[in-house]
Amino acid sequence: MENRDYQLKPLPTLTATQSWCCENGCGETTPRVEQFEYSRLEDKRGRLIESKTAPVWRSTCCGADLFVYDEASSTSTPWEN
Ligand SMILES: [Zn+2]
Repeated sequence: MENRDYQLKPLPTLTATQSWCCENGCGETTPRVEQFEYSRLEDKRGRLIESKTAPVWRSTCCGADLFVYDEASSTSTPWEN
């Protein structure tokens, strides 16, 4: 059985002109840790046999993906979990 080791990627320290933004268009947000289920095994009745999760960063406002916006260069960089 495959057993991958997922670890939470450390967040970069943002500069004064950078801010975390929500991919849903909410604007500035704060990253929070969520458990992302990347593997789920159920029996024929839909009962959970095994669930594998990995910690990922999501926006606090709606749990969407994040990107870093840099005011100085007007660039957006998606955050890859
Ligand atoms: Zn949002």
